[in-house]
Amino acid sequence: MKNIRFFQPDTVVHALEFLHEHPKARIVAGGTDLLPEYREKEDNAITGFIDIMRIRELSGISFDDHAAHIGALATHAMIAQNGTLKERLPVLSAACSHVGSPQIRNLGTIGGNIITMSACADTLPALLVLEARMVMRSLHQTRTITVEEYIDEKRKQLVPPGEMLIKIVCDLPDEVPLSYFFKLSRRAAAAKARMTVARTAYIESGQVRNLRLSVGAVTSLALRYREAEKLIEGKAVTDQLCCQAGERVVHDMLAVTGRRKSAAYKIPVLTEMVRRSLEGLQ
Ligand SMILES: Cc1cc2nc3c(=O)[nH]c(=O)nc-3n(C[C@H](O)[C@H](O)[C@H](O)COP(=O)(O)OP(=O)(O)OC[C@H]3O[C@@H](n4cnc5c(N)ncnc54)[C@H](O)[C@@H]3O)c2cc1C
Repeated sequence: MKNIRFFQPDTVVHALEFLHEHPKARIVAGGTDLLPEYREKEDNAITGFIDIMRIRELSGISFDDHAAHIGALATHAMIAQNGTLKERLPVLSAACSHVGSPQIRNLGTIGGNIITMSACADTLPALLVLEARMVMRSLHQTRTITVEEYIDEKRKQLVPPGEMLIKIVCDLPDEVPLSYFFKLSRRAAAAKARMTVARTAYIESGQVRNLRLSVGAVTSLALRYREAEKLIEGKAVTDQLCCQAGERVVHDMLAVTGRRKSAAYKIPVLTEMVRRSLEGLQ
């Protein structure tokens, strides 16, 4: 029988030391991604599990004058129910409230959602439009990286080994942007996203400012759609512009995925989802 080590550290340093000594061990937070995957695949490479749920430094949500600091162990339920996040970062609050079922939201963490980085992870489009930052720590260094940069590292398989996500930092602008989040799935609850659109923007003198638009679940990793953002930026939104932005997003999505069988469904639905995400800015 295989000898699997199980470690329950109560500090980040202890966890990182164990990870350093056992590079094939895996960090477990809520276990809602990792344990089903382990059961299914029985990954023989895994030599141990590091249960980080007792590490207090990783839990909790706090605020300073300019930013929200969300511990890697904050669950989706904690984020969705936090009054300040609901008010100041509604796009993230909405994303977390759409994850799985109440049981999954009570157990699953934002850290696990980001690190697994599945195509349909609900928090990623929201974190992309918030330009959220991740504080990552390994035994010998701490680095801060945007979620977008981390996605890029993941795509290029450049994520350094032996790192732990400590917290996510989101700026709190003085004025809360107009925010939109929509998850399309087969059922209203407890279902994976087929497409997710997140958008933030301001309207000044009738014109759109600082538009950020992101789509999840249509490419292998969620993406910002900057060309579509540029189409609308600084303009008064019209029906025609909303449709053009939808077409631009589809064009850029297809440039990444190629024209697969699913394109017959994705093209009209994504065009319409993007259009709807923008029409509220008129
Ligand atoms: C029935 C079901 C429904 C689901 N529905 C949804 C859904 O609708 N939307 C959605 O987005 N997700 C969904 N999920 C996926 C999952 O619940 C989420 O991704 C959740 O946020 C994962 O968090 P966790 O704490 O359980 O992660 P874990 O399973 O504990 O860990 C996931 C991965 O992250 C790593 N990890 C965890 N924390 C850290 C850290 N601090 N530093 C470094 N690495 C870390 C682990 O090593 C592992 O590789 C669902 C899962 C199930 C089982």
